[in-house]
Amino acid sequence: MFEKSVYLDYAATTPLDPHVGEAMQPYFNQDFGNPSSVHQLGQKAEAAVERSRATMAALLGCSPQEIVFTACGSESDNLAVRGAALAARRSQGANHILVSPVEHDAVLRTAEDLGQHFGFEVERLPVDTFGRVSPDDLREAIKDTTAIVSIIHANNEIGTINPIPELARECEGRDVLLHTDSVQAGAHLRLKVDKLGVDMLSLGAHKFYGPKGVGALYVRAGTQLAPLLTGGSQEGGLRAGTHNVPLIVGMAEAFRRAQEQSEDRAAHHRSLRDPLIEGVLEAVPGSQLTGHPQERSPNHASFVFEGVDGNELLAALDLAGFACSSGSACKTGDPEPSQVLTALGLDPGLALGSLRVTVGVDTTQEQIEAFLHELPRVVERLRTAEGAHV
Ligand SMILES: *Cc1c(COP(=O)(O)O)cnc(C)c1O
Repeated sequence: MFEKSVYLDYAATTPLDPHVGEAMQPYFNQDFGNPSSVHQLGQKAEAAVERSRATMAALLGCSPQEIVFTACGSESDNLAVRGAALAARRSQGANHILVSPVEHDAVLRTAEDLGQHFGFEVERLPVDTFGRVSPDDLREAIKDTTAIVSIIHANNEIGTINPIPELARECEGRDVLLHTDSVQAGAHLRLKVDKLGVDMLSLGAHKFYGPKGVGALYVRAGTQLAPLLTGGSQEGGLRAGTHNVPLIVGMAEAFRRAQEQSEDRAAHHRSLRDPLIEGVLEAVPGSQLTGHPQERSPNHASFVFEGVDGNELLAALDLAGFACSSGSACKTGDPEPSQVLTALGLDPGLALGSLRVTVGVDTTQEQIEAFLHELPRVVERLRTAEGAHV
């Protein structure tokens, strides 16, 4: 039954690229040393970690010392926001945090935690109907006491890409740190930290065909951060714990392939995604695209449907052989409308009828055609069933 299932949820996670798996393999049991050990086996592992760091740095256009390996995108977000907030308060008494209302929970809940339990003042920036923060609004919101600004790069739920370089200029002018969550963007956009102008940037390997359980944070030289994990002096004292060598090697290899192939992958994604969006809006009455029509991740389509429950829609599509999402994977089972969608000004009832369809390197035109054939029928059936309840 499952062999025919079509995977359309690449923003939730991606399968491991076989080339990446191959690169990781020796570091599980052959070159298994601890990079902190003095002997040759340790040195070999250390060399692999440092090669991976150099690869990440070269791709991002920074120095290897500016890369911190973490255990996931969420940890990178936590280290950036919590680490910078705590350090800025210690050194300058800064206690104000600015975030967009469309952040991933890894940023949003971290900021809320800092507000509730650490006495920070957390402010949410306004966004337009596509989920973008404007440089003017940011300029007005920055205060002398602002410790950190965190604005998502490519949105996981609605695909929208924020104008990070323009936003960075506002922060630079006021000497305020800017972090961006590029966990989605890393899979699709060429990332150069100097062009972006950010002080910190989060990545997670499993969103770009790397392994789960490893991430990275770019930290501009000179940025003060308080560590989340204390112990050994790994990662310049910013992240204690024995390096997960195979996963770090896998992340660098996956990121290299994603960045080097980004134009080709984007062209493939667009050739499937654009007809998908057009087809859905045409075939399903009462449907609406969420997020920006152009400034969005090339593989990302997201919608709301009138008179449909998003969770029921996901279940029905799953039964019909299509794996999609209603937004962030972490929100599944949550009956509340997505905060991201309501932040766009969408009616909460309409926001409950959301669907996210994200394509990947293995997606085919036939799969999209099959999906476009099935979706209108499923929506129609659910709407009729809803009507039957009343
Ligand atoms: C997936 C994701 C995260 C979390 O990354 P993990 O590696 O799964 O912890 C954070 N931000 C965005 C935008 C994401 O898409």
